[in-house]
Amino acid sequence: MPDSIIIPAPAKVNLTLDIKGKRPDGYHELETVMHQINLVDIITIEKQEAGIEVVTSSDLVIDDETNLAYRAAALILEKSHCRAGVKIIIQKNIPVGAGLAGGSTDAAAVLKGIRQLFDLRLDDRALHEMGLALGSDVPFCLRGGTALATGRGEVLGRLPDNLHLNMVIVKPPYQVSTAEVYKAFRPEQVKRFPDTDAFIESWYNCDMIGICDYMENVLESVTEEQYAEIKTLKNQLVQLGALKAVMSGSGPSVLAIFDQLDSAVRAFEIMKKTCQETYIVSSYLKEEVL
Ligand code: ATP
Repeated sequence: MPDSIIIPAPAKVNLTLDIKGKRPDGYHELETVMHQINLVDIITIEKQEAGIEVVTSSDLVIDDETNLAYRAAALILEKSHCRAGVKIIIQKNIPVGAGLAGGSTDAAAVLKGIRQLFDLRLDDRALHEMGLALGSDVPFCLRGGTALATGRGEVLGRLPDNLHLNMVIVKPPYQVSTAEVYKAFRPEQVKRFPDTDAFIESWYNCDMIGICDYMENVLESVTEEQYAEIKTLKNQLVQLGALKAVMSGSGPSVLAIFDQLDSAVRAFEIMKKTCQETYIVSSYLKEEVL
């Protein structure tokens, strides 16, 4: 058996995000289309005698037991009664606190990586349950691709991977707290709700115009209120030729969809001059990394 493993951890964007109500358990009832993109953290997991150690390449992420990758390792090792230890090295490429599920995807990669490294007898269902205990986005990150996520985000309906989207992502130079944004959400302040059914129909038909027409994120009503710049960024991206620009997750990242790669490249080059954290990305294809 190998002593180490390297696992890619792709970010996600929310192509639609709607909140259907508040649940008795305090979580929000979500309806969101999630889509993996090729902005990817690289996770190396090495076996060690005992204990868990995390090393990251980013100053913005703490290397201690609060790191979601650490918590994922502790959970799976405990649940599988595995007494070995691991060192987890995270090459952080996904911006932190950006609405791109950076921590969740690292946690998902650690669960999958440790299962494989130690050949643990855990099925996907068991991994899903552990993922959900770590965070609402982790089950999607385990599954990947494109999915309609409902419930807390853990009820996943797979959508076909029949579209390869060209996107530019702009992350303003601050982080937002997902928990605070959800807490401040008030449906009466939402200007536009997504039509998720129409979005999904367009997705099945590969109808880019329909897809872009129906993309909306109700959490913009909270985060844009606080940071007016988000709206400005969306307008700029549309002026640069994007078919649509919306905020991802709780923000503050903005994602813009382009019908042609060259127009995405042009917009990327212009945005990059004023926003350091600008990325040109596309849909994540499992075989393209490593
Ligand atoms: P989501 O879209 O799932 O709500 P996010 O993309 O907005 O998440 P993250 O990048 O996951 O946000 O970071 C949220 C918080 O989690 C940060 O305060 C960060 O310090 C903490 N964190 C813990 N572990 C990690 C990790 N492995 N990578 C990134 N952030 C982590």
